[in-house]
Amino acid sequence: MCADMQTAPNLMPIPGHVDPVPVPRPEPASADGRRSLVGLTRDQIRGELEGAGMEPKQAKLRAKQLWHWIYNRGATAFGTMTDIAKAQHPWLAERFTVDRPEVVEAQVSNDGTRKWLLRSTDGHDFEMVFIPDADRGTLCVSSQVGCTLNCRFCHTGTMRLVRNLTPGEIVGQVMLARDSLGEWPSQPEGRMLTNIVMMGMGEPLYNFDAVRDALAIVMDGDGLALSKRRITLSTSGVVPMMERAGKEIGVNLAVSLHAVTKDVRDEIVPINKKYGIEELLQACADYPGANNARRITFEYVMLKDKNDSDDDARELVRLIRKYKLPAKVNLIPFNPWPGAPYECSTPDRIRSFSNIVFEAGISAPVRTPRGRDIDAACGQLKTSAEKRSRAELDRLAEEKQAALG
Ligand code: SAH
Ligand code: SF4
Repeated sequence: MCADMQTAPNLMPIPGHVDPVPVPRPEPASADGRRSLVGLTRDQIRGELEGAGMEPKQAKLRAKQLWHWIYNRGATAFGTMTDIAKAQHPWLAERFTVDRPEVVEAQVSNDGTRKWLLRSTDGHDFEMVFIPDADRGTLCVSSQVGCTLNCRFCHTGTMRLVRNLTPGEIVGQVMLARDSLGEWPSQPEGRMLTNIVMMGMGEPLYNFDAVRDALAIVMDGDGLALSKRRITLSTSGVVPMMERAGKEIGVNLAVSLHAVTKDVRDEIVPINKKYGIEELLQACADYPGANNARRITFEYVMLKDKNDSDDDARELVRLIRKYKLPAKVNLIPFNPWPGAPYECSTPDRIRSFSNIVFEAGISAPVRTPRGRDIDAACGQLKTSAEKRSRAELDRLAEEKQAALG
């Protein structure tokens, strides 16, 4: 364990390119010391109640009721919990919260995509994105503030500050989206929010326990009640955690492959230096639950003259066949950000690449970029608050005020 971690338990040290250290950390209490119940299991809620002095038998009953109110009904205050004695509401409210992450800013793109800038109780900013389509609505959820992995084409990877999000902050994103879409109580039919992708900021498999615990609540039938078939976890290739992800989380897997040769993948997805392509594809072949009905998605960002040749496409097909992978390929046009060292491939090149993969019998759609105008598209997430100091933000707010007034 590194010394810094003892003095600053909330911050994840950035140990170079490929070796992040997951940092266990306590749930942050709110500024007034109250503890959030969002993100806790039934047993953990019971433990909190008992720890605060509630008699064990009552704590068990109350935990069950609270769970239902929090995750099924979306309650944001104890006062609305009608089957809990009124006299007990102040007792709960003095000690606990059912708050969501604070919304710092909400933006809507001209294509309907929405992006929220969120803030944790201890002042860290992260983002979530909602992408509405005709037949579905997908929430793109963050697992970390920033990312330690430094993929060269990804804006999030350039963030300096990194910390794991807690289960409460991860589930809290889904709950906040439900709040804003008016989708409580949790119901199986007629939702706008139908799918979840763990593809926001961060590498979910470097925050395994929190992601697993949060998704368990999301998938619980009396919790947020979303089916595991509608949830996808994307990893850049944290090979040693993939089997556990399949067994303990069991959602669909997406893998950020992005290159088919060692040289290129080492350059653009540096974790490849640690877990190479062949090892990664073997882990995909072994992924529990993958089959023709539940294929693994290979994400492939199209970078001009870097990974987009016909030979690259043919090599991709060869590799998928070699490992007999039930696969689909998702081609992602590179989304630019200021100072990015790459350009997006031309539309012709992307088409040619897609055709080669498609003609080999593997589905290879090109993902339509969404929310580019509000920097909500893949790889554009980077909280600007990390780049600006508090004084700078105050000055900007004053200027905005002056301009309005
Ligand atoms: N860390 C995980 C999940 C978050 S990134 C992972 O890497 O898989 C979600 C997806 O967006 C990944 O496939 C990532 O490679 C892709 N991405 C990152 N930056 C991008 C950019 N600038 N343009 C297009 N896609 C990008
Ligand atoms: Fe991290 Fe994924 Fe971005 Fe790579 S692509 S830096 S793993 S968020």
